[in-house]
Amino acid sequence: GLSGKLQEAMKKLRGKGRVTEKDVKEMMREIKLALLEADVNFKVVKDFIGKVSERAVGQEVLESLTPGQQVIKIVHEELINLMGSANSKVTFSSKPPTIYMMVGLQGSGKTTTSGKLANLLRKQGKKPLLVACDVYRPAAIKQLQVVGSQLGIEVFSMGDKTNPVDIAKAAVEYAKSRQYDLVIIDTAGRLHINEELMEELQNIKEAVRPQEILLVVDSMTGQDAVNVAESFNEKLGVDGIILTKLDGDTRGGAALSVKAVTGKPIKFIGMGEKLNDIEPFFPDRMASRILGMGDVLSLIEKAQEAFDEKKALELEKKMRTQQFTLEDFLEQMQQIKKMGPLNQLLAMIPGFNANVMKDIELDEKKMARVEAIIKSMTKEERNNPSIINGSRRKRIAAGSGTTVQEVNKLLKEFEEMKKMMKMMTEMGKRGKKGLKKF
Ligand code: GDP
Ligand code: MG
Repeated sequence: GLSGKLQEAMKKLRGKGRVTEKDVKEMMREIKLALLEADVNFKVVKDFIGKVSERAVGQEVLESLTPGQQVIKIVHEELINLMGSANSKVTFSSKPPTIYMMVGLQGSGKTTTSGKLANLLRKQGKKPLLVACDVYRPAAIKQLQVVGSQLGIEVFSMGDKTNPVDIAKAAVEYAKSRQYDLVIIDTAGRLHINEELMEELQNIKEAVRPQEILLVVDSMTGQDAVNVAESFNEKLGVDGIILTKLDGDTRGGAALSVKAVTGKPIKFIGMGEKLNDIEPFFPDRMASRILGMGDVLSLIEKAQEAFDEKKALELEKKMRTQQFTLEDFLEQMQQIKKMGPLNQLLAMIPGFNANVMKDIELDEKKMARVEAIIKSMTKEERNNPSIINGSRRKRIAAGSGTTVQEVNKLLKEFEEMKKMMKMMTEMGKRGKKGLKKF
């Protein structure tokens, strides 16, 4: 997929102490191919490569201490810019109810997303009303009613014999008289864009003047999704895009080009069929996901914040001289705790083998047990864990109120942790200058 290809392209620069213009050119060529293959709009690719190349062969990069890292950072930043830089929120009317009109082709996910959005905004304290305006597709009304009943959210419908414009108008009156904050209108789609569909949507728009028209597009359709978005925006005007089915095997092209082509931001993404599977869209997170690099920059920042440089140096010396003890281990655990959940941190390290660390969960409760175990050891044992044989393990378990298995597990993790500490220490030390190696 796209992220695999981009990772390949960037791997070559990672850790490079010197980057030539030729390196950058080669990398850009590979990134270009990867983007085109992922069905990113051709013009968008061209602009993107142009911007990145210009910055990447600049003096600032070639003369920096960590040019490889710099180029990767530029690619990351430009991907974020491409998708709109910040999270774009839905807006609310000053005078309730706020009306959102959901539009899009048939099967794009309008009905499901109407429910998801209602559910999401209800969690933020809004009282939503869902409105069934798809009077064409058989069982479309029923589908929305099922969604509504699953969520416990009311659905306004007038059957399939009434004109959608009249339904929408009546729904807004209904919502006003019953203090709903939010009216979400689920409209009909078609297999393709046509005049009839656009006219109907225009009429609903005129009749109820929605706060936002939210276009639902299926990310699996790649470049088609972008073309659809462009047409809808030209003919109807849209305020935001909701990209669905990003959980599937999408090539990523739609997410990357839709903002650049239409000028309209992606506001939410659909990540599954369930009614909870919706997320606000964050360009930076998506860029990281696409690059498959995790949030490297925030990892560096976190490591910098939490690690006391002097301590890190001491620790590194201990590592080097094999003097790292269980007491140091305990202290390091406290440091790591400051950085946040460990598995989250590990996930941010590119190429990190998560399986190795699968068993390590550093929650508060476990910290306390680990502390108890280490405190039940003699000084000699703490300094030289290799002497901890079977009978010592039994004694330590009894003394700490834990089990022999837990003691075994800790000793095993200690060994794993040693490896990780080494990595973290390097990061803490190099963080301020930017990482040389990843
Ligand atoms: P509509 O015709 O635009 O109203 O589309 P529907 O809401 O009926 O959705 C069409 C199909 O896509 C349904 O089977 C949904 O369950 C599915 N769907 C919608 N959003 C998502 C999503 O984010 N992920 C996945 N995997 N499926 C989705
Ligand atoms: Mg529908």
